[in-house]
Amino acid sequence: MSLFDKLDGIRQARAMLETVGIDPFGVAMEKILSPTEAIIHGRHTILAGTNNYLGLTFSQDALDAAHKALDEQGTGTTGSRMANGSFSTHRCLEQELASFYGVRDCIVFSTGYLANLGMITGLTGANDIVLLDADCHASIYDACRMAGCEVVRFRHNDANDLAKRMRRLGERAKEALIIVEGLYSMLGDKAPLQEYVEVKRQYGGYLMVDEAHSLGIYGERGRGVCEEADCEDDVDFIVGTFSKSLGATGGFCVSNRPELDLVRYAARPYIFTASPPPSVIASTRITLQKLAEGQALRQQLHDNAQRLYSGLADLGLAISPEVSPVVAVNIEGKARALTFWKLLLEHGVYCNLVLPPATPTGVPLLRLSLSAAHSSEQIDQIIDTFRQLQAQLDAIPVDA
Ligand code: PMP
Repeated sequence: MSLFDKLDGIRQARAMLETVGIDPFGVAMEKILSPTEAIIHGRHTILAGTNNYLGLTFSQDALDAAHKALDEQGTGTTGSRMANGSFSTHRCLEQELASFYGVRDCIVFSTGYLANLGMITGLTGANDIVLLDADCHASIYDACRMAGCEVVRFRHNDANDLAKRMRRLGERAKEALIIVEGLYSMLGDKAPLQEYVEVKRQYGGYLMVDEAHSLGIYGERGRGVCEEADCEDDVDFIVGTFSKSLGATGGFCVSNRPELDLVRYAARPYIFTASPPPSVIASTRITLQKLAEGQALRQQLHDNAQRLYSGLADLGLAISPEVSPVVAVNIEGKARALTFWKLLLEHGVYCNLVLPPATPTGVPLLRLSLSAAHSSEQIDQIIDTFRQLQAQLDAIPVDA
């Protein structure tokens, strides 16, 4: 077997995608016009497939802070914090995140992916057990593989299944790490956190919640599903990313555990990679303030989500079960999903195509994500485009 033979499956899958003439996983935005609009293939397009939930990527204060940091501190840090030193602003942001959550400490990582890798490898090893919601993000699965820990998967959003598996662990449950997400990014469904907290109270263990898609969106102060469910005191670690509602790139973990600071020294994904550039830290410090004070933005986002959800539901589309800023439309048949996705793009709507096995339902998905920056007109235009194209979708056989 040659080194490259294992890529044959990908070659074949890509050939199928090429039949429609566009690679849905390689779309380039030629010009970004605003948080919700871009030029794609020369066409003015509404962006309904970004994670720009609060629409803060063009916030003037954040741009000004990033420009100033670029001018004063340069384009990059050129190294890792442990080997090459922190910029004092890294620590400032850590303190601001800790105080935003009202906890003792925070570690900033270079991406959200690395935050999961760093935390899970920093906390667990071959003798540890991690219980995962089956639909957890790839970064959590990859982290467990890297840590070499024992993984026990439980059914998605099913606290009874978690309890059953904790019970089977006996004494070992007391030191197990349970990992779930706040809002799941494929179907936009929220975790039953209170129920998990009950399981933890009964069997012990530690709870880590990845709030990547829920930070800024839920809770009075925007701290996420843990805040909304009023269970922050029972959650040991909250992981998050700067790449969605905060409009940048980076990741973090906050915790009241005094051991958090020690994880830095055990987390290779923290030690052996370059720290986030000063401009990113500067813009994130500003967007974090806007997020904390962002009740009006949150309300706008939820109103937008409701508008899109109701509009698509009225068309009779098979959409995700809960109203949230992520709206997933199930489309039976890979070829149909691909064709529909392309038609939408040609009519000026960009959303995400997700194909099995990456979908939790095993059915292809068109995934739309809302922003507080979408106008009602843009949302109505998205719904209208679905309406116009629906007859063309219905004409394609499921097994085409
Ligand atoms: N966790 C979850 C739940 C995610 O959805 C993502 C990204 N989609 C990440 C972590 C990784 O975040 P980042 O893209 O900032 O590396």
